[in-house]
Amino acid sequence: MKQTAAKTPDTELSQFRVKGEIPVPVLINWLTSAAVPILLFFAGRAASTADSPFTAPLLVTFAALLALNSLVYLGIRHQTLHRRGFIGLITALFTFLVIQTVEDGSAIIWLFAYPPVIFYISQARVGIIACAGGLAALVFLFSPAGDLVFEPPYSTSFRISMVIVLGFEMVTCYILDQSRRRSKLRLLRLASEFEFAAKHDALTGLANRREGLEQLETEYQRYLRTQRPFSVMLMDIDLFKGINDHYGHHAGDELIRMVARTLRDQCRKVDTVARWGGEEYLVLLPETGPREALQTAQRIRAAVEAGSVEVDGHPLGATISIGTATITGSESIDRLLQRADEALYGAKSAGRNQACAATT
Ligand code: GH3
Ligand code: MG
Ligand code: MG
Repeated sequence: MKQTAAKTPDTELSQFRVKGEIPVPVLINWLTSAAVPILLFFAGRAASTADSPFTAPLLVTFAALLALNSLVYLGIRHQTLHRRGFIGLITALFTFLVIQTVEDGSAIIWLFAYPPVIFYISQARVGIIACAGGLAALVFLFSPAGDLVFEPPYSTSFRISMVIVLGFEMVTCYILDQSRRRSKLRLLRLASEFEFAAKHDALTGLANRREGLEQLETEYQRYLRTQRPFSVMLMDIDLFKGINDHYGHHAGDELIRMVARTLRDQCRKVDTVARWGGEEYLVLLPETGPREALQTAQRIRAAVEAGSVEVDGHPLGATISIGTATITGSESIDRLLQRADEALYGAKSAGRNQACAATT
């Protein structure tokens, strides 16, 4: 999971799934598997009772369409089509159950199954529109005007209770669903923050040593496949202990940050800049040969030399020494890093504030 800034909760939520959460397509398929035999059972009853002659065939049709919707999904894996098909079908089915007064009108209690399902499988906005629209339609059908459309076999007290209890359930489902979404969002953000913290250095925000090594391994695998060489730079702030001793640890930290900023500014987006240790850094330069690596190192060295931080109102600068090495043949990552380290040592021995390329 990358550090993803949430645009809106709903878009972020639909992109990620928390482990253990039932995926929407799976839930729809489970509900369909349960709905098909139930619909066929009631269709059988409708066929053998005095229900309207349309009831049984329509219930069978709904069962067939729901099954078809899931089968199409299993074939083409189109989640939006699957979800929209299911919502459309159950909305039509519930409308039919109410208007057709199936099972002497008792089928209306199936309406209570609608809100939790709709809120779980769709975005909150869709859930609100579907529930509010459904409740408004029910209020209309139960009103005197609705009696012109159909003749419901319900007493006034049943109608009032039905509307109030269904409205209550819808609001409760909405609140619970919002709570679920907020918890999920918080979990995703926490996971993303933890992942960021595990891969980055707190002082500089650069990749930490572990992440640097991971990127190095990825680049190495690419090298083995493509044989396109990459380079590394190991660098170390010169005489840093003296800076700490003279100006204090805080000033030292500021310099470590300044060098990190300079590295970020001087490197390409594809490069990985990592804090390798206390005042040491590693830069991974994909698809970069020895000449280009040394040129980059010299540019970085000059940029660090030109930079400074303010300590007690005075500018404080630092210099760095850099060793570069380019992967060759079948050498290992360890060997490559060892060569870069030797080059860095060479730069220190040659008087510091230098960039040296490793020998092969
Ligand atoms: P050289 O030019 O040979 O590299 O000399 P140096 O003094 O930089 O070498 P050395 O590696 O002995 O010193 C590194 C110092 O960096 C020692 C340590 O106290 C300091 N250091 C390590 N991590 C941090 C940090 O996070 N903040 C600060 N302020 N200092 C740190
Ligand atoms: Mg050091
Ligand atoms: Mg040093």
